[in-house]
Amino acid sequence: MRNRLESLGRTMLIAATLAPAPVFVSDISESDGKTPQPVPIILPYAGLMSYEKYQLVKTEKESTQNNLPSIFSSGDKKRPLVAITIDDAGNSTNVKMALDIAKEKQVHLTFFPVGSVISSQKDLWKKAVEDGHEIGNHTFNHKQLPALSENEIKRQINLSQEALDKALGFSYPMHLLRPPGGGGGYRGGDPRLLKIAGGLGYSLVMWSVDPLYAVVVKPKNDREKLKKQNPDAVVEEKPVTSADFYQHVVSATGNGSIILLHFNRNDIGALGQIIDTLRERGLELTTVSGLFSGS
Ligand SMILES: [Zn+2]
Repeated sequence: MRNRLESLGRTMLIAATLAPAPVFVSDISESDGKTPQPVPIILPYAGLMSYEKYQLVKTEKESTQNNLPSIFSSGDKKRPLVAITIDDAGNSTNVKMALDIAKEKQVHLTFFPVGSVISSQKDLWKKAVEDGHEIGNHTFNHKQLPALSENEIKRQINLSQEALDKALGFSYPMHLLRPPGGGGGYRGGDPRLLKIAGGLGYSLVMWSVDPLYAVVVKPKNDREKLKKQNPDAVVEEKPVTSADFYQHVVSATGNGSIILLHFNRNDIGALGQIIDTLRERGLELTTVSGLFSGS
């Protein structure tokens, strides 16, 4: 976007762009006869438009923040609300696809990118926030948190927060923590992890619908078990597709479900259809915080 404004005999050039360039403002006198050159002034928030939109999202986010339990795997089962969460983000193409699908379907998702990949996907995460999606912390290096010292856990969480703020150009305080691999989140949660996460202002967010486990991990475990019991057994292994992910998600999802997807081909390939089918069944899609808003 580039506007030219005439004011009091002086020309002000305003070039406001979204990422990656900061907002430029130049105030140039034409009387010196030199070619006007924009003088960059980096405003406090490099992505100004994103920041303004973020303020709206933030207000809603903060109003629900204090209502969240310290650990949960679903929302209220009496309300027809569902949250789709997508983890990891190693594959930029799939992140972009997810954002495009969400935009087309007018739906807000919750993303848990690993902190170490964020700096190489700055524009995507700016867009995610600008589009009204929610971003949660999935640690910086995707380590199993219960195996780490208290300082290392804090470092993993804080490094991820720093990476996101740096990418966005403004502070986006995350308050949802998804422990990598669910480590420390099962059976009510590891008390030490809950204490550390709570101290940093986080709730632990698990899930109630997990197609990766249902269609990939569990069948693999079953095949291995069968092979162990009977080494001569012929164990059939059929390729897994997006249709398998779709089938599992729509059959396992109900009121208050938190669906766990990853930025993988099969998951993102099923995303559009999952959204359509859940809506047809009268379920409203929202962010994880949205599950708790107004309750
Ligand atoms: Zn993960």
